[in-house]
Amino acid sequence: MVNIIGNFTYIIFCDTSTRRDIMPISAANTKNGWRLCASCETLAPPRSWHCPICNICILKRDHHCIFTGCCIGHYNHRYFVMFLLYLFVATTYGFCYNNMFIWNRIHFEFPMSIIKLIFPLAVFVFGFDGSINQFYLLLYIVSAVGMLYTAVLCIYHFYLVFNGSVANESNKKIFIYNLGWKQNIKEVLGERWYLAWVLPYINSQLPHNGVIWDTWNSWQYTYSKCK
Ligand SMILES: [Zn+2]
Ligand SMILES: [Zn+2]
Repeated sequence: MVNIIGNFTYIIFCDTSTRRDIMPISAANTKNGWRLCASCETLAPPRSWHCPICNICILKRDHHCIFTGCCIGHYNHRYFVMFLLYLFVATTYGFCYNNMFIWNRIHFEFPMSIIKLIFPLAVFVFGFDGSINQFYLLLYIVSAVGMLYTAVLCIYHFYLVFNGSVANESNKKIFIYNLGWKQNIKEVLGERWYLAWVLPYINSQLPHNGVIWDTWNSWQYTYSKCK
């Protein structure tokens, strides 16, 4: 519960737009993936993408999340994937307990039970079965759909994180920012990735500033110099 609410509020209150940094303007910056955003009337860094709803360019924009009403980008990506993970854990937990509860109350009868399971809201609202058990069945179906939906989102977004990509880049088949699975996790969860998943309040510095990015080649170059 702490993780779901904590991550949810962090997603909303974390500014991940280009507004937070003053973009350096020089001729060199128009190369290497920099572009001029006509809407913002400013230079936008690589991996950023203009959001028509937020009306600003978002650093490493993944997508505009309709559930939180804000964009998912470089600085709140960590909270978003953790929010999804803990939501999946919670809905699975709820689904297990709902199963124990509901199947003690409802006895399966063919074909009416099938209709009640597929159209629980219609059966309840249109008065075919206005009992409290049908209402419980409705809540059971809602939680089961929630679990399946978060499971699909979890698989998709963790796949993107492990591949160092975001939804937009994956659609365009851009995988040049893939730095190996371990570094890809650090790019999202920060340097203290092994602790960051426990709570959203744990500080974990991100390796990149959302403006300058490493590709596989530049990363290997820096890495070999460090060694
Ligand atoms: Zn823009
Ligand atoms: Zn947005």
